[in-house]
Amino acid sequence: MIAAGIDIGSRAAKAVVMSSGSILSSVICDTGPESVKTAHTTMARALKGTGLSQDDIQYIVATGYGRVLVPFANENISEISCHARGINWYFPSVRTILDMGGQDCKAINCDSNGLVTNFIMNDKCAGGTGRFLEMIAEVLNTSLDEIGELSLSSRNATPFNTICAVFAQSEAIAHFRKGGAKSDILAGLHEAIATRSLNLLKRVSVERDFSITGGIAKNSGMVAKIREKIGMEPLLCEDPQIVGALGAALLAEERCNTDGSQDMKAHYGYTDGTGDYFITIDSGQCDGCGYCVEACPAGILIMAREDGSQLKAELKEEARKNLAFLCPGFLSCRHRHEVNCHSVCSKDAISHTW
Ligand code: SF4
Ligand code: SF4
Repeated sequence: MIAAGIDIGSRAAKAVVMSSGSILSSVICDTGPESVKTAHTTMARALKGTGLSQDDIQYIVATGYGRVLVPFANENISEISCHARGINWYFPSVRTILDMGGQDCKAINCDSNGLVTNFIMNDKCAGGTGRFLEMIAEVLNTSLDEIGELSLSSRNATPFNTICAVFAQSEAIAHFRKGGAKSDILAGLHEAIATRSLNLLKRVSVERDFSITGGIAKNSGMVAKIREKIGMEPLLCEDPQIVGALGAALLAEERCNTDGSQDMKAHYGYTDGTGDYFITIDSGQCDGCGYCVEACPAGILIMAREDGSQLKAELKEEARKNLAFLCPGFLSCRHRHEVNCHSVCSKDAISHTW
């Protein structure tokens, strides 16, 4: 089975092609001004040398800020879910992810299945994003690839009063003009960004194991500062920048079973400005016991009989568009109630993406 994931980010577009659970190819391209064109070019490059054409791919999931503009995608899923799923493929023990992207930064908690249990996003200020580091590299006339190593050679980090992208850039220029060493200026900025990342992570929960994804995870200076602040060694995969596209490809694989037909999972819910709210019920696993319906304090599950066959759990029609208000997500539900749909389901047929 061939499945693919494509992640159209603000600075870079990534694609991963998978064949039966293994990565066949992956690419990273610059995001051009036209997302549709970028999507076609990125997928064509991912297929180059594989002997495959796009028609050979059974399911494609798009993610990233440009995900709705991928005309050939079968489905689009938020990058939060994709990063959690992607990192779980490398490191199933990871429970906390810091995704440092081109234009925003996210702190994510996930469970052992790579399902999101909590997240927070900082997309209000460019400080600490890939774009911000690009601007700083330009100001200091240094290549983006070198700034991390350069920051590590500093003995006297320049203190920064702010990490606001605009003011920090002005401060960096002022220090540079006064003869400040590039390494010290960069060390000060990396320190400030690491502090900001720690504050973001504290708004979810910082649990072991910990990983960093996104292009900034390739910056050794930033990884060193974050390690120091958080007090945990991050698990870093081979290429942290493709984790979102990898997660999308894995979710695409899950949408199909081995003979290429659609799987039996029903996904109820939606994505809005605040996040993903999906309850997934695997009717292939569900044995119709009905315990989840009894356990749910929100009363949003029912048993239904499709085509006169076995009873299966479903989400009530009226709850599907209002899910975030009715169900607090299984982690919060577990804290508030002794039993919940997960704890009573012996078939592990029900899951949440929150
Ligand atoms: S508890 Fe699990 S197996 Fe039982 S009806 Fe609910 S989803 Fe199906
Ligand atoms: S997590 Fe709690 S409220 Fe949500 S569906 Fe499960 S039992 Fe119901």
